[in-house]
Amino acid sequence: MLRVAVVGSGPAGVYTAEALLRYGGEVLLDVIDGLPAPFGLVRYGVAPDHPRTQSISATLAAVLQQPSVRFLGNVHIGSDLKLEEMRDHYDAVVVATGAAVDRHLDVPGEDLPGSVSATDLVAWYCGHPDTPPDLFRLDARSVAVVGAGNVAGDVARMLASSPEELRATDVADHVLAAFSASTVEDVHLIARRGPAQAKFTTRELRELGDLAEADVLVDPADLELDDVSRELLTSNAGARRNVDVLRGWAETPPAGRPRRVHLHFFAKPIALTGDGRVEGIQLERTAFGPDGSLKGTGEQRELPVQLVVRAVGYRSLPLPGLPFDAEAGVVPHKDGRVCLDGAPVPGAYVAGWAKRGPTGVIGTNKHDARETVRSLLEDVPSLTPAPQRDPDTILRLLAERGVQVVDWAGWAAVDAAELERGRAQGRPRIKITDRAELLRLSRQ
Ligand code: NAP
Repeated sequence: MLRVAVVGSGPAGVYTAEALLRYGGEVLLDVIDGLPAPFGLVRYGVAPDHPRTQSISATLAAVLQQPSVRFLGNVHIGSDLKLEEMRDHYDAVVVATGAAVDRHLDVPGEDLPGSVSATDLVAWYCGHPDTPPDLFRLDARSVAVVGAGNVAGDVARMLASSPEELRATDVADHVLAAFSASTVEDVHLIARRGPAQAKFTTRELRELGDLAEADVLVDPADLELDDVSRELLTSNAGARRNVDVLRGWAETPPAGRPRRVHLHFFAKPIALTGDGRVEGIQLERTAFGPDGSLKGTGEQRELPVQLVVRAVGYRSLPLPGLPFDAEAGVVPHKDGRVCLDGAPVPGAYVAGWAKRGPTGVIGTNKHDARETVRSLLEDVPSLTPAPQRDPDTILRLLAERGVQVVDWAGWAAVDAAELERGRAQGRPRIKITDRAELLRLSRQ
């Protein structure tokens, strides 16, 4: 029987497991996650007001419930179990741990209180157990969200949503309370390049205009396109659609709603200012030079804001015992085979954002996982079989170390409790965020 461990139960890990189930021979897969709950970014990254995307968890759950798959939650690779030790129990290990930390702006003032990463804010409003409930108080009037990707769009939309809109989601009680008490009136989305270069997908961009209590404001001058942007629009239908949506907003006078989302293009943050905490963000106007590269024009202005959210991309963290390309922020690989100095490390594979960086949508991981699994299955004849063949040995080892493994039945108990709490308040689900409570419920 082939024994494979997949580290990470987000889309990349579960699509890897799904592809491995197509292996012709007998296989037993352990999908291991450091959190007591499965689904990775589908649970802890997808915006709460995106129920359709969240529902992908049902597809992932179907894989994790297969008889040849075991979900081992609350097992941290590195501290509870070392990667090297896993080779005693598994013929192959696939790392699908994603990209857990944020990129930086590298500007003065970035470390002032009031400057936060989207990674933390998203984790908090998605109820990540490692995020304290009181991490955020939304007591700013004006917020800058730096970045023009879907994460920035999610954050801006969440901050401009009304409490009623958020009641229809699964956010934890303390998150709903914080948003209900929010004083945020103006959300400034800051894009360092132009509207044609924004990375929002059009559906997500449009959603800003669907908010019940927020107007969207775009300066028509930002839509006077330069040659570089005009050229891009001829070949990029997504960019054309985005610019059309933005034009629509630029031509629409605000309706006087209580909140506003302002989109600023060609605005590069050069400093965060404030005495002891963030009071403003300094921006420099940018423009494309004749060679197509982005340059600062020297024209500066300051926006008064009390909170700055950096949504400028994620990067992976190295996993002890696994090669890591610190510059690219990914695990070096060839077709999913982990490589050290260009040579494959026997039995080690990588999938998802840890492999290709934080790009693409959830579905992108399907194709990516298939490539990794193709490599793994090609290698099966030459894999060194793990010495421990009894699948229960790993469970005994973890129990001896005092690790409370959350299996599928344990997660199902948590799932039922969250749905029940939601029903009691007429909401779809209410997330439970406290790790101790998640573990207690999973024991029932
Ligand atoms: P992203 O799409 O790469 O966007 C990052 C943004 O940050 C870009 O606009 C980038 O500008 C900007 N940026 C980078 N460094 C900067 C700097 N120093 N100063 C100012 N701006 C800077 O990344 P993301 O938004 O984190 O999303 C990650 C992936 O998850 C993407 O593939 C995204 O589509 C996906 N995702 C999808 C959804 C959804 O489908 N609803 C939701 C969330 C995330 P430049 O373009 O100029 O570099």
